[in-house]
Amino acid sequence: MSIVVTGATGQLGRLIVEHLINRGVAPAEITAVGRNSARLADLAATGVATAVIDYTDPASLAAAFAGADVLMLVSGSEVGQRVAQHTNAITAAAAAGVGRIVYTSAPKADTSTLILAPEHKATEEALRASGVGFTILRNGWYTENYAAAVQQAREMGVYLTSAGDGRVASASRTDYAEAAAVVLTTPGHENTVYELAGDIAWSGTEMAEALTEVVGRPVVFSAVSPEEHTAILTGAGLDGGTVGFVVALDGNTREGLLAGGSSDLATLIGHPTTPLVDGLRAVA
Ligand code: NDP
Repeated sequence: MSIVVTGATGQLGRLIVEHLINRGVAPAEITAVGRNSARLADLAATGVATAVIDYTDPASLAAAFAGADVLMLVSGSEVGQRVAQHTNAITAAAAAGVGRIVYTSAPKADTSTLILAPEHKATEEALRASGVGFTILRNGWYTENYAAAVQQAREMGVYLTSAGDGRVASASRTDYAEAAAVVLTTPGHENTVYELAGDIAWSGTEMAEALTEVVGRPVVFSAVSPEEHTAILTGAGLDGGTVGFVVALDGNTREGLLAGGSSDLATLIGHPTTPLVDGLRAVA
């Protein structure tokens, strides 16, 4: 079986390639693709085939996807441009006769008001319209997204958020990558949507407790209003776009949009998801 993994030059895609190999897929059956040729050279050392692609360059996609049985389409990172980019990838995969596309989406992408959901919803629609078999992995939040919180906890002894009591069922990237490797290599996932999230939805207080354990100093949970959060981040020198994004995401968290509730991830990988403390320790 020939598996093409996009985003392999990024963090999740790289882990998917590693989990495929760990699960016994021969490196020669894997093609790792991305834009950054230096990182592809590093991947080539593991024995996988590599190809440079750009989601904006259909010819590069056609060449990379030729002969593939399954495409692992890791969503891109250029927010605002991704619907056209992902559609290019889906169109190229359909033209190349790829049997199935596995796509990394967002929690409840079809109905959620999460600010990141619309591009994923549109991609899911393009996928369904393509006629190619699909598996949608609606990935929840990565624990690694809290790397800056670890740093702030270490330096200031505080976990500051405007997410209020909103819980987050985060899991480590490796958990999501392992789930992807499972659906890429086992039968029964055709035209299926999975809601992937960590087993435990933690509160801000619990995050502060976990940070206390990880950084080795008392970390206080500081819940601020969106207005206060905006002022603090602006004062720290962040640009308006980033401030708006961070505060909006905390608003989404407050509303419970990242709180998970499905056990699909642990079921797929066959073991509990990485506990918050362990995930934070890995990024610390
Ligand atoms: P990374 O930023 O580490 O990797 C993004 C990957 O997308 C890279 O391989 C990058 O290629 C590739 N990419 C971006 N734009 C293009 C393009 N135009 N053409 C081809 N490849 C492109 O992200 P992660 O691995 O951490 O996460 C994977 C995806 O998950 C993200 O791209 C994003 O969609 C989503 N995400 C999910 C989060 C969550 O908490 N669930 C948090 C953050 C992101 P290259 O580096 O070679 O340019």
